[in-house]
Amino acid sequence: MIPTPPIMTATHEVLNQARALENYNAYASNLPLQEAVAQQGAGWAQDWLMARGAEVGSAEWIEHGRLANAFPPVLKLFDRYGNRRDEVDFHPSWHECLGWLKGNGCDTGPWAEPKPGAHVARAAAYVMFAEIECGSLCPTTMTYGAVPALRHVPELAREWMPKLLSRDYDRRFIPAAEKAGVMIGMGLTEKQGGSDVRANTTRAEANGGDANPGTWRITGHKWFLSAPMCDAFLVTAQTAKGLSCFFVPRWTPDGRLNEMRIQRFKDKMGDRSNAGTEMEFWGSMGWLVGEEGRGIPTVLEMGVYTRLDCAIGSTGIMRAALSQAMHHTSLRAAFGKLLKDQPLMRNVLADMALEVEAATALSMRLARAFDAQDGRIRITAAPHPHAGGEILDLQALPDPGGRGHGSARRQRLRR
Ligand SMILES: Cc1cc2nc3c(=O)[nH]c(=O)nc-3n(C[C@H](O)[C@H](O)[C@H](O)COP(=O)(O)OP(=O)(O)OC[C@H]3O[C@@H](n4cnc5c(N)ncnc54)[C@H](O)[C@@H]3O)c2cc1C
Repeated sequence: MIPTPPIMTATHEVLNQARALENYNAYASNLPLQEAVAQQGAGWAQDWLMARGAEVGSAEWIEHGRLANAFPPVLKLFDRYGNRRDEVDFHPSWHECLGWLKGNGCDTGPWAEPKPGAHVARAAAYVMFAEIECGSLCPTTMTYGAVPALRHVPELAREWMPKLLSRDYDRRFIPAAEKAGVMIGMGLTEKQGGSDVRANTTRAEANGGDANPGTWRITGHKWFLSAPMCDAFLVTAQTAKGLSCFFVPRWTPDGRLNEMRIQRFKDKMGDRSNAGTEMEFWGSMGWLVGEEGRGIPTVLEMGVYTRLDCAIGSTGIMRAALSQAMHHTSLRAAFGKLLKDQPLMRNVLADMALEVEAATALSMRLARAFDAQDGRIRITAAPHPHAGGEILDLQALPDPGGRGHGSARRQRLRR
């Protein structure tokens, strides 16, 4: 047998390189988060968050985050027999991530078990998970925001709420009635207007006759519809009375696929583990949510919660960038000193640490406003960590030098 020659060690030994940042506790090592959680009324959750932090920092969960992004979703428009399915295949790690998020109540925990500090505890777990995988946070957030909007429709809430509040993530593509837990997405944005939802041209007509009383037919195109494997969507469409909000399930009550057709996946810069789609509604069956013609206030009820998550998710990404930068500069030496001890690098790291601490404190304060239902603070403050995240990620990128551009985990911070 021919001996296998050593490949790298034949030419050089690998020296002065950091090792992977893994098997650490993402909560124990995040003092600003611990303090903010205690200050904002969720001190009771410290032990629970400590256990979640150990999971999120483990090599196993970091690897799930990597795999969910390294193997992006695959569109399966048809089954092998030619039947239209509009289905998406995900890597198993994507499902693991959603299982962790739903299992820990990051979608509907504060609604299922309301108590002072519930939104803060959930936000802290969400911040930590954002350090390892962000695409799966998208349906998690939309499900979180959908609960208050759906409470307007007792007939729907009766059937859907127990499964929304469940901690069971059920990955199967089958009617919601047969599932243990469900998730909700949203379809608002159209080509001609995203922020300005009033520009929607998708229309809805009431179904006449006795066949499906109270239902509507939705027809039109949505330019962004993320997480298409959610079980139902809040969709905006025009009626004779103006823009209205509808609940559109993937399956109709008689067990048929609802008429929702995926056109293609979005080719996005970030959010790659998630399957952002362009979707067409072909007379899809839906139910009115809220008052006809009052679609904007109804979807804003969901939107205000998604804005909180823009802030806390960005805080998690900022924290991930800082952790990577601190870790690398603590192990890599240049010009006779560890990088973290070089005066200019210290300045950069200290600036970043301050930004992250501020974003952490602000995010947890915002989450407390959701506990207290203080709408004034909730709406205005959310964009700040979001903007800060983009600036800080750019700062953190040069710290690991060339390696920073080559590591999958760091590339994800930049997307
Ligand atoms: C990863 C990803 C996932 C998404 N998933 C979904 C989804 O699941 N469902 C869905 O419905 N949508 C989704 N969207 C779409 C998103 O909601 C829209 O992109 C967003 O609402 C902005 O709309 P727009 O892209 O049309 O930008 P525009 O509305 O054209 O805005 C362009 C720019 O102008 C700014 N702007 C707009 N109005 C004003 C104003 N009055 N004053 C000053 N500045 C203004 C905006 O802040 C923005 O910077 C997703 C987007 C992304 C990137």
